[in-house]
Amino acid sequence: MSTQEIDLELENKVIVKAYRNVLKSIRRTLTREDKKKIREAFGISLEAHRNMRRKSGEPYIIHPLAVAQICAEEIGLGVTSVICAFLHDTVEDTDITLDLLRLKFGDKVALIIDGLTKISGVLDQPDKSVQAENFKKMLLTLSDDVRVILIKLADRLHNMRTLDSMSPKSQLKIASETAYVYAPLAHRLGLYAIKSELEDLSTKYLQAESYNYVKTKLNETKTQRNKYIRNFIEPLIQDLEDQGLKYEVKGRPKSIHSILQKMKTQHVPFEEVYDLFAIRIIIDTPIDTEKSDCWKVYSIVTDHYTPNPDRLRDWVSTPKANGYESLHTTVMGPKGRWVEVQIRTKRMDEIAEKGFAAHWKYKDNGVQQDGGLEGWLSRVREILESPDANAMDFLDDFKLALYTDEIFVFTPKGDLRKLPAGSSVLDFAFDIHSDLGINCIGAKLNSKLVPINHQLNNGDQVEILSSSKQKPNEDWFNFVVTAKAKSKIREYFKQIRLKASQLGKEILERKFKHAKLTFNSDNLQIIAKHYKLKAVSDLYYQLAKEEIDRTKMDIAEIILAEKAKPADPTAPVALKPKASAKANLPIDAVILSENEANMPYGFAKCCNPIPGDEIFGFVTIGEGVKIHRTSCPNALALMSNYGYRIIKAKWANAENVPKKAFVSSIKVSGIDSVGIVSIITDTISKQLQVNMKSISITSNEGAFEGNIVLEVHDTQQLENIMRAIKNASDLISVNRVDLG
Ligand code: MN
Repeated sequence: MSTQEIDLELENKVIVKAYRNVLKSIRRTLTREDKKKIREAFGISLEAHRNMRRKSGEPYIIHPLAVAQICAEEIGLGVTSVICAFLHDTVEDTDITLDLLRLKFGDKVALIIDGLTKISGVLDQPDKSVQAENFKKMLLTLSDDVRVILIKLADRLHNMRTLDSMSPKSQLKIASETAYVYAPLAHRLGLYAIKSELEDLSTKYLQAESYNYVKTKLNETKTQRNKYIRNFIEPLIQDLEDQGLKYEVKGRPKSIHSILQKMKTQHVPFEEVYDLFAIRIIIDTPIDTEKSDCWKVYSIVTDHYTPNPDRLRDWVSTPKANGYESLHTTVMGPKGRWVEVQIRTKRMDEIAEKGFAAHWKYKDNGVQQDGGLEGWLSRVREILESPDANAMDFLDDFKLALYTDEIFVFTPKGDLRKLPAGSSVLDFAFDIHSDLGINCIGAKLNSKLVPINHQLNNGDQVEILSSSKQKPNEDWFNFVVTAKAKSKIREYFKQIRLKASQLGKEILERKFKHAKLTFNSDNLQIIAKHYKLKAVSDLYYQLAKEEIDRTKMDIAEIILAEKAKPADPTAPVALKPKASAKANLPIDAVILSENEANMPYGFAKCCNPIPGDEIFGFVTIGEGVKIHRTSCPNALALMSNYGYRIIKAKWANAENVPKKAFVSSIKVSGIDSVGIVSIITDTISKQLQVNMKSISITSNEGAFEGNIVLEVHDTQQLENIMRAIKNASDLISVNRVDLG
């Protein structure tokens, strides 16, 4: 710390105060032994990190202190976790060894610290297979002690809260990783408060403009909102007191992330997101009357306000799988506005906010394993056992598994198999054996014949039918959902391609020998380019498949001719200077961050960014920079896996960009009625005068669904179009398409 003067005395005061706060937040009464251990762990950490500072300039010890604070106060963890939180970075970043910690604090603490050390940096590996391996390890430690993951979440939460001092590049990487892995993890563990804070914090960095917009709007409307909540509560108070209920009312705005989500999916401006906040009535009541008391409150609320019967959610009678209990209803409040009311007891509220840790607190012996968590862990283990080593697919499948439910089906012999909901006959076949999957032609389902893509239901008995003549084709990817089936099918195609390529290579080698030319990569590139192929491996493959006629292939002539040609400015070969390579792109619509400013760029097909979208650049191999939307589902995976290839990008000022049409597609769906297609097309082309590049609409049993590809200038115009279509008829819903 060079120029800045540091007030050490003040810093020490802050540290001591933070330490005392941690002690105060542990809800159990501490024994003398507890206090001694905690003090010792803190001392070791303080000494080990003594000369270290965080990027923000603070003494490093502030971080372990904050992580311990989150563990105790926000997750409700106890002494062991606080000790581990203090020490969580020591083994990795300082001279402290695991053996020393084992000696001082025992096996349990050592095991948890070891898990935490292994997790750290899991996603930082540039090599994705190393990354996948580490990630698997991290998840396996879950089964040893779930505290590893809870402390890791606390660690991540504090890092996200203090992300401002990091570089923009690290911010993007850390934020996307958080959105991709940690927020779903928190969700799955039932840590709702932490989940929504993680989501909000990642949104703050990934979609900075939208985030700030909603934040400002929320601040502007705060007084108004509070007043509304007071008005809403007023008539209820007397009744609640007459019933002798001890209650507390909270009026909480929804998270910024969920408001943005609503604005996007419903295409409404901030002002029209009707349920900006939920009112929560928390009652303090003994456990044996809690259900009936919740319903008492419900009837008081609905005595005063009319409920929307479609929006009653009763998780009091049947709690969610992750332990969530609450009664939700939406009622018509003052001024004709819908208000969501959540009714729960103090116990339920604590579980909803703190998840499983709070659960244990309410269990008699304190550490009882919970069915929901166990089920989830076993599903994670299943994915881990799938042999596929591709980190990207693995992460995707893993994320899927965090959210999906499962079904139980039977083999002909009556053995039970567990599969994710949505699994097909093909998934089942691969689950039994990969050969059975490869050769599967259908199944006998409860003695009825069904095709391979038939979706299974709970309780089905499945007998797979196979034939040695059957071979997988590309369509099969659309029929399967399990990681195992996907990786087996991929493996099959890889093998086929590998064999074919080998054959193609041999053919080409002979040709080179014949023509007395050198078989090297320069010459091979030239030939690949001649056939307009991106990679030499494609050339091998097409030769082997006879998609290129080898008898007509005169390599000497090709090489000669290609060498004689002037350089082709649009060829996607290597990174070329700006001017020539951008020939086909809207001129300078996007500005890349300084170091990469001269790279050629193009727009990613998966998300079709248009001006107004928040964007970033991804450095590809051989194709320059691809511009993605930060909200592109692929992008999140790219960012968290290849953080080092992410660059900042922004749209140029509108005045500098010639009015240029960008391609964007929207999805329409709804109830089929006479003239629906012409309503849509009239709105777009006549009323709004927008060019449609293509439109396809199919209808099926009274419902229709369609895709429309449009030429637009920016998000503003696109939003207008979507709103106009929606307003044209009640029977249509419309969405922007994210994936091609
Ligand atoms: Mn840390």
